[in-house]
Amino acid sequence: MLLNENEKSVSSPVALVVQAALFAAERHRDQRRKNVDATPYINHPLALASVLSIEAQIDDPALIAAALLHDTVEDTQTTIDEIEDHFGSKIAGIVAEVTDDKSLEKEERKRKQVETVSKKSTAAKLIKLADKTSNLRDIASSPPADWPLERRQAYFDWAVEVIDGCRGTHPMLEELFDAAFQARPQS
Ligand code: ZN
Repeated sequence: MLLNENEKSVSSPVALVVQAALFAAERHRDQRRKNVDATPYINHPLALASVLSIEAQIDDPALIAAALLHDTVEDTQTTIDEIEDHFGSKIAGIVAEVTDDKSLEKEERKRKQVETVSKKSTAAKLIKLADKTSNLRDIASSPPADWPLERRQAYFDWAVEVIDGCRGTHPMLEELFDAAFQARPQS
């Protein structure tokens, strides 16, 4: 169920999604993406929400809210407790599932994503599919200025390993990911 007793501040499914967008925009307000144009960070969670709701036509406000919030704990000072206070335990649980443990080294975190993704909830897998799809699209069309070809290719190859652990969850999202993978940078 969408609204549980923890979600007292949210009055409707639309309000929930708008509140999540506002919360994420506020928390990411000083961050930029790593591409040359330094796009505002919020465009990334919005891209996930767009992939899930518009492209894959998934009509689940709690999932869209979690997608909008998916990087707030990993990349800002936001805590899971805060997400729970504002959005309830269900959404906080999904965000926790897609948050890397930043106390680990980067390579270790990436390896852990590959190892753990198949055991995650359906909601977490849907967010991973949308996240990797939008990251591949960004790297193909507007990569970070300091990423040489090998690093861009390595990201694509790691992303497909993570997504292989999500297969069987949502055919249309998998197709969108596989289409994005077709743009793997070539020398
Ligand atoms: Zn992300």
